[in-house]
Amino acid sequence: PLVLGIESTCDETGVALVQGTELLVDVTASSMDEHARFGGIVPEVASRAHLEAFVPTLEEALSRAGRILSDVDAVAVAAGPGLVGSLTVGNAAAKSLALALDRPLYGVNHVIGHAAVDELVHGEFPERVMALVVSGGHTSLLLVDDIATNVRELGHTLDDAAGEAFDKVGRLLGLPYPGGPHIDRLAREGDPTAIPFPRALTAPKFQASHAYDFSFSGLKTAVARWVEAERDAGREIPLADVAASFADAVADVLVMKTLNACREHGVETLVIGGGFSANSQLREMAAARGEAVGIDVRIPPIRYCTDNGAMIAALGSAVARRELPPSSLGYGVDSSMPLGLVVA
Ligand code: ATP
Ligand code: MG
Ligand code: FE
Repeated sequence: PLVLGIESTCDETGVALVQGTELLVDVTASSMDEHARFGGIVPEVASRAHLEAFVPTLEEALSRAGRILSDVDAVAVAAGPGLVGSLTVGNAAAKSLALALDRPLYGVNHVIGHAAVDELVHGEFPERVMALVVSGGHTSLLLVDDIATNVRELGHTLDDAAGEAFDKVGRLLGLPYPGGPHIDRLAREGDPTAIPFPRALTAPKFQASHAYDFSFSGLKTAVARWVEAERDAGREIPLADVAASFADAVADVLVMKTLNACREHGVETLVIGGGFSANSQLREMAAARGEAVGIDVRIPPIRYCTDNGAMIAALGSAVARRELPPSSLGYGVDSSMPLGLVVA
């Protein structure tokens, strides 16, 4: 079936068309420029931007794919997690389309979509995969027996998400919002061993209780204290070394725990997704260490890591291919949709 995917959880308005695991078109509009000067997403601004961007984005996607609305066999939309106002615009549009076209609607989980999009790049998942989803709002380790029906969360961050930690450290280093990509760029010129920042929840005593959980707020505080001490001592801050040492600490913990989980669950394929999987330190470390222990590491190209319609269409297509029942049109959006729930 030809699946139309709609993404509107945060600041990106995304529309994509997927047939099977083939991506026909993926168009994204972002309101990030309007938020940047506030140093964070302004929900009301994001909601209005979705309302304005949705129809033009849909029209562009259809025209680029050479399709018309009635070609669509099923509609998928991110039902959560995300900002309620943003989600409401995308879900109202999706419900209206499904109703008008008389097609099934799947309200799918955005975070699981961040993993599902890799099926469009590297083909259908094997029987069992481990998925690490790392973004601005989430850092979760998922054991995926079936991307459409059987996803189990093994662990998650107890405080900040990886992207969020990068954005906060970016702010304290005086970098523009969002800081993640700026730290990535700076880190490439620095020495990752310059400063020994802490690796949270990796001590043996956490093995039983928090083996697959993460924590990045202590690391952020450690960076803040280090920078402050250097400033107090009148020294110039070696920005590239701070960025590289910080990025190394984040990637090290993510990759270490994830590969441990693969080994302990006998899983040979690891998928990494979410906005933070654009991070070059994480990508390089995961690829190198995965190869060393014989784990097939799949990470989609960067344009499919940040929010987009393709990830929603990919998950919608996985659900539709299994002929699962559609969502009832009365469902509400869920700002904290649980990871065990693939379809609303
Ligand atoms: P969620 O998917 O949990 O709802 P989100 O939609 O805000 O959160 P994404 O758009 O998937 O998250 O990712 C955005 C985050 O990724 C931001 O925190 C941003 O700084 C971070 N990010 C993007 N590129 C990079 C990079 N190269 N290095 C580090 N962080 C990055
Ligand atoms: Mg975004
Ligand atoms: Fe996201």
